[in-house]
Amino acid sequence: MLILLLSVAFAGCRNNTSDQAEKNKEPMKINTQSPKMKPSNFERTNHFNIKPTNASINTSKWIPVKGTVHIPILMYHSISIGNGLCVPENEFFSQMKWLKENGYYTLSPEEAYLVLTKDIKPRENCVLITFDDGYEDNYTKAYPILKQFGMKATIFMIGRSINKKNHLTAKQMLELSRNGFSVESHTIHHLNLNQLSADQQTSEMKRSKELLDKMLHQNTIFLCYPAGVYNEETLKLAQSAGYKMAVTTEPGDAFRDQGMYSLHRIRIFPGMSLEGFARILATPQ
Ligand SMILES: [Zn+2]
Repeated sequence: MLILLLSVAFAGCRNNTSDQAEKNKEPMKINTQSPKMKPSNFERTNHFNIKPTNASINTSKWIPVKGTVHIPILMYHSISIGNGLCVPENEFFSQMKWLKENGYYTLSPEEAYLVLTKDIKPRENCVLITFDDGYEDNYTKAYPILKQFGMKATIFMIGRSINKKNHLTAKQMLELSRNGFSVESHTIHHLNLNQLSADQQTSEMKRSKELLDKMLHQNTIFLCYPAGVYNEETLKLAQSAGYKMAVTTEPGDAFRDQGMYSLHRIRIFPGMSLEGFARILATPQ
């Protein structure tokens, strides 16, 4: 049973076979330019779209909190029907509607970093919504729903999956990034970091940061460990690679005493009732 669960968790939602075949190939060169997004156009427009840094976030109206702030970081993968990593669109819609109606503010990674480290928050109820692996339905299904409710989310993109079947294209990533969403790192090859040498781990983390920094003209600060696995070395290497925080798949709310490079998340399963979803949000985990 455990093996079955693990294999489902590692496999992702769709095109599992082709995904596995891709993993076995040699690293390939990733073309980060879509045909319609020539470098000159990108350069011309990007000055409107530079992501806010911590220094540019106005926290003067944020609420001070007594004690250590805990925030729920929700973990989704695909918004579709399939296995345990796929949340159907209608369930996702109801969950986002519930968050909106209950006054939840969706944090960016930069905002979450300030909340977790400074014990201040922009609103009483805050949540950070994350999607792992960069499925195309994050753009076609989740993005319109989140936009409708004036909410934002973070997508952890696998470097080698850019422009691949069922995954985000470079153009979609740019659009998301320019509309308040965050596209952050899920390494280049989605390998279990705890099984790699220090040099290999560093390469996975640094190359994906450099790739996203360049593509999206941002400072990529947030890392998600593939399959949630890491070792003691990973935590230090993630910091050296330039990230400010990282998430795992360990369950529960996130708070800084977990370590900023091993923050917990709340997995949202398909078939979860809205009452169950509300209970998770309302109860400290
Ligand atoms: Zn993943």
